[in-house]
Amino acid sequence: MRGGSAVAALTLCTSVLVLVGNQASAAAGCSVDYQTNQWDTGFTANVTVNNLGDAISDGWTLEWDFGGNQQITNHWNATITQSGQHVTAKNPDWAKGLATGGSHSLGFQASYSGTNAKPTSFKLNGTACTGGPVETTTTTTTTTTTTTTTSENPGNPGDHVPNPYAGATGYLNPDYVDQVNTLATSTGGALGTAMRKVAQNSTAVWMDRIGAITAGRGLRGHLDEALRQQAAAGRPVVFQVVVYDLPNRDCSALASNGELEVSKNGLARYKAEYIDPIASILGDSKYRDLRIVAIIEPDSLPNLVTNTAKPKCAEAKSSGAYVQGIQYALNKLSAISNVYNYLDIAHSAWLGWDSNIVPAVQLYTDVVRGTTKGFGSVDGFITDTANYTPVEEPHLTDPMKTVGGQPLKSAKFYEWNPYFDEADYGAELHRRFVAAGFPSGIGMLVDTSRNGWGGANRPAGATGSTVDEYVNSGRIDRRLHRGNWCNQVGAGIGLRPQASPRPNFDAYVWIKPPGESDGIATKTSGPNEEGKQHDPMCDPAFRGDQQSNGGNLTGAMPGAPHAGVWFPAQFKMLVENAYPAL
Ligand code: BGC
Repeated sequence: MRGGSAVAALTLCTSVLVLVGNQASAAAGCSVDYQTNQWDTGFTANVTVNNLGDAISDGWTLEWDFGGNQQITNHWNATITQSGQHVTAKNPDWAKGLATGGSHSLGFQASYSGTNAKPTSFKLNGTACTGGPVETTTTTTTTTTTTTTTSENPGNPGDHVPNPYAGATGYLNPDYVDQVNTLATSTGGALGTAMRKVAQNSTAVWMDRIGAITAGRGLRGHLDEALRQQAAAGRPVVFQVVVYDLPNRDCSALASNGELEVSKNGLARYKAEYIDPIASILGDSKYRDLRIVAIIEPDSLPNLVTNTAKPKCAEAKSSGAYVQGIQYALNKLSAISNVYNYLDIAHSAWLGWDSNIVPAVQLYTDVVRGTTKGFGSVDGFITDTANYTPVEEPHLTDPMKTVGGQPLKSAKFYEWNPYFDEADYGAELHRRFVAAGFPSGIGMLVDTSRNGWGGANRPAGATGSTVDEYVNSGRIDRRLHRGNWCNQVGAGIGLRPQASPRPNFDAYVWIKPPGESDGIATKTSGPNEEGKQHDPMCDPAFRGDQQSNGGNLTGAMPGAPHAGVWFPAQFKMLVENAYPAL
């Protein structure tokens, strides 16, 4: 697995640059904040330059030298050129000015080998960034380097850019932040400090019922807050909203059943009372400069692929409610230029087998083709929403590797499913969707909020003479069975949200807010007012059946509340088992 490690540095250097020519005296100064997320062969960097000198109105250039063989492959929010180790980042057209005290963030992705030391000095318009204003004598005839390439288009605010996450910052939901920080304060110590770090990461806002559009802060309140965060950040904010209220929702389980039913006019209500008001709020011109990512209906189409033996799924299929509901949502939302639609497509442990992935790609292709904008109505797909399948299985990288004469994929844990993790599954989905006619620019997302699998039980390698021994000793996914999905014991927070983490992946994201339950552990007398009820897969004492989890125990935590409700014991466990550690 490519372990992510965050490196932050404030670079303050001491040299003063004096240039002579047509002289004019001015205060110049800057500081640079250089942060990276790196893995074994690459990294992404966010570079924020702060102008501590006089206001700049007609363009700026930031320069630095790499200390190693770092090679920039992709960049945003600046035009970047690299010559050997020397890098020149020029302002984008829409950000020529830098006020006194103002800042600009740009970013890039790069490869490297060996070590990845941070650059030791930066220069803004030729002045070394020393962290404070310095009197300089500047010339009006300074030479400027001309750059020849353009950056990955960061676009103007409100434009539909290729990857909404590139060069943007994620929305922090103040309600979630408060909940986390309150628990962190009462917990205290090192664990409390680690908990607090969770609150610095963006999580999605779930519209899980009609009432959620207006309840509490409501969708408008969140968007207003996102605008405020965007103004403070000085860079685009990505606001992630989960569209999750189809009739017969969660049709193969009970924990997240919803309020609408196919048989009770559910599709018409979904359109009129749910999608229409959401689309009208998101389409308000006030919000046009935000980047709004809509995660469309987790688990719905996957249930049509594999679970139509369940009556509610059969009804969702035969009535056309899921397909028509999703097409309606895509039509409404894709008409808003700053909304980005990502369709949920389960995870590798659900649809990985050929017998599932082939009909799944067909179904999604048909659904999207049937929308007004066709392939233009989606920006990509998301896997692992609210699930626990790892991004990578670091010790089991080749499903065809043989142990005791058998391929790893034949192990009981994988049941001949050739996709062990979301990186491989997502890459394969991208390949198949492009082959099916989607533009190659579609991007994958992975929900990494709870798939880290760190802590004491994380294996350091694989060993054994049979395929089962080998797989069971080496897998970081410690579930009793890959079909287990409810409040999994041993899980931990996964990779932090980040843009462009690998080719064809737009981002790692946190859609399920860590610490919100997947479903209630004990039996209830019936559905609550939101339709939620007890699913036996959330009962730690229950053994599933052959199809759902091979007849294993569920591996669910005891004491869990209803789906979506804050579950402090789970949050504590997820923090303790975070990987990378918090
Ligand atoms: C629940 C939703 C909740 C979401 C995020 C889902 O399982 O059904 O009500 O908003 O999780 O926690």
